[in-house]
Amino acid sequence: MTSLADLPIRDDLRGQTPYGAPQKAVRIALNVNENTHPVPVEIIAHVAAAVERELHAVNRYPDREFTLLREHLAAYLSSSGGGAAAPVLPEQVWAANGSNEVIQHILQAFGGPGRRVLGFPPTYSMHSIIAASTGTEWVAGDRDAGFALSPETAVAAVRRTDPDIVFLCAPNNPTGTPLGLDTIAAVYEASRGIVMVDEAYAEFMPEGQPDALSLLPGRERLVVSRTMSKAFAFAGARLGYLAADPAVIDALRLVRLPYHLSGLTQAAAVAALEHAPTMLRTVGAIREQRDRLLVELTRLGYDPHDSWANFVLFGGVADPHATFEHLLAHDILIRDVGLPNHLRVTAGTPAETTEFLDVLARMNQ
Ligand SMILES: *Cc1c(COP(=O)(O)O)cnc(C)c1O
Repeated sequence: MTSLADLPIRDDLRGQTPYGAPQKAVRIALNVNENTHPVPVEIIAHVAAAVERELHAVNRYPDREFTLLREHLAAYLSSSGGGAAAPVLPEQVWAANGSNEVIQHILQAFGGPGRRVLGFPPTYSMHSIIAASTGTEWVAGDRDAGFALSPETAVAAVRRTDPDIVFLCAPNNPTGTPLGLDTIAAVYEASRGIVMVDEAYAEFMPEGQPDALSLLPGRERLVVSRTMSKAFAFAGARLGYLAADPAVIDALRLVRLPYHLSGLTQAAAVAALEHAPTMLRTVGAIREQRDRLLVELTRLGYDPHDSWANFVLFGGVADPHATFEHLLAHDILIRDVGLPNHLRVTAGTPAETTEFLDVLARMNQ
């Protein structure tokens, strides 16, 4: 057996650990912020028919420009009610196999050796992992109390580190905490580089709340990334996307692999987007379970952080490892994100949330 250390691997990858959310077969998986409601059956039939039609053309390479998909994503963003100040046009949209690949494209085009990206931990672990894999230096800025990020604190970090790219996460994973548009605008003004706002959980924000799309007009270095992995209940299909100035999209064309989005993926995503309201019909119910978690975890003596996402980070856990294992013994998987005295749980169905809370309550008796 050869070990990694014996291979002629890149020096900067030595000693690194891969993304590692445990994948375990459990009855109740509340660990990676999926939508735990299955895709509605009528949509499954529609998507399957679209994929079948596409199979008749699968001997050919797919549309490299995923034109139809970009049109549907642009229409969805323009109609989401999230507060885009101007309609998002198809030429402003980019997509890839999950927003992780979208983020990789950003780093390949605007980061790389000799360049640095600023992030604000605790935040989405893939941001620093993809930075490392593209040879981009990761520098960390501080947060304020309660994991908030004020314009002043964020701008101070930009001034101190002079980054080529800034990653913001709104709402932030793993804390769930919101990020003000004032912070995003201030970071943009203070920086010379690309500012990417990862809005993977945008659909779970309070209704009518303006999102970072509303800041796009006139800001050609601003990028807003989204995904179909969370609210859309489409994580297994792997479809992430972003909106930005058309020139940014041209930059991403330089680094993507030709035909990176398979025809089957494109067809499935278009079919799902044709039924966006149905795909998103569980969002309200998930928000209710999130708010229920905030109330009930407090009642159980924990210290949950305010969340605008579909998960809750809660403090006041004396022994996170022991609590994690106790839940796992009851077939419930949540996430130990490595923050002292904290654990993170996804808002699932009402029954899943009830079972999680019941096991916790009995544990504390
Ligand atoms: C889950 C998540 C994603 C999703 O990544 P995909 O590759 O689209 O599945 C992106 N960003 C954040 C902050 C997330 O939590």
